[in-house]
Amino acid sequence: MKSIRVHIAIIVAVLGVVAAALSLPARSSTRSTPPRISSGHAPPRDASTFAAAASRNTTLRNELKWAFGGKQQRGWYLYDLLIGKTLNTQHDTTTSDFAAALAAWQKKMRLSADGVLDEDSLMRMVSQWQSNRLKNRAYAMPDQLLEAPPADFYDPGRAAELRQVERNTYAAYKEMFAAADKDLKLAPGHLKIISSFRSRAYQDRLRQQSPNSGRAGLAVNSPHFTGRALDIYVGGSPVDTKDSNRAIQVNTQAYRWLVRNAERFGFRPYFYEPWHWEYVR
Ligand SMILES: [Zn+2]
Repeated sequence: MKSIRVHIAIIVAVLGVVAAALSLPARSSTRSTPPRISSGHAPPRDASTFAAAASRNTTLRNELKWAFGGKQQRGWYLYDLLIGKTLNTQHDTTTSDFAAALAAWQKKMRLSADGVLDEDSLMRMVSQWQSNRLKNRAYAMPDQLLEAPPADFYDPGRAAELRQVERNTYAAYKEMFAAADKDLKLAPGHLKIISSFRSRAYQDRLRQQSPNSGRAGLAVNSPHFTGRALDIYVGGSPVDTKDSNRAIQVNTQAYRWLVRNAERFGFRPYFYEPWHWEYVR
């Protein structure tokens, strides 16, 4: 019995050595295959290009000088989220991966595909965002409007004539609010309506109250005339365009949720005002 066990042990040991020897060439041949380049990533030559672009973007994100609505603007950091959505990338705007995604978009737009978000590329993106906004700016007819209940408003004491909303817009808003509340457990006031339909007379009064708000502020031909534009509370000071205020707003859960989800409900953003959303269906 003992000698049989010894023989078996020797055979097992020999087989083990043979198996190890056989597996060696297989392993080394695996090693000799070149590393696979994962799809969606640029080849090494471009990676260094995009590293330089990423470093340029890190600067421009805070410092690019550009103009909008007759006002000087500085940097594009307030639009990180919208830019990422436009490029369909979740990479941080200061990374090489972001620059690569930007370059792909630039190529499609026939811009210089260098991965740098300079004034040309930013203005193209802004015009894309603006062209996605509500096209039909017809003044709302009385029968298109309903009077939404005070509970839907950021200020529940808002007068009845200032609580009018276009019917389909209101239905879509209610669905969107319910979905957001389910996902986020919204803080009190968040995503409530600040302002909806505004009559021409009311808009004129608002403009007289803040004559320096400029073109980016209170429009002469406001989308609020349609009843399809809603100012929605996303945090911070409700409708203040100061960069410091918008910086707070674009980082709230409520705003981030809107950027990711509002389109599903038919709402599109006005990039410059984190609170202003338009129903485009
Ligand atoms: Zn608005």
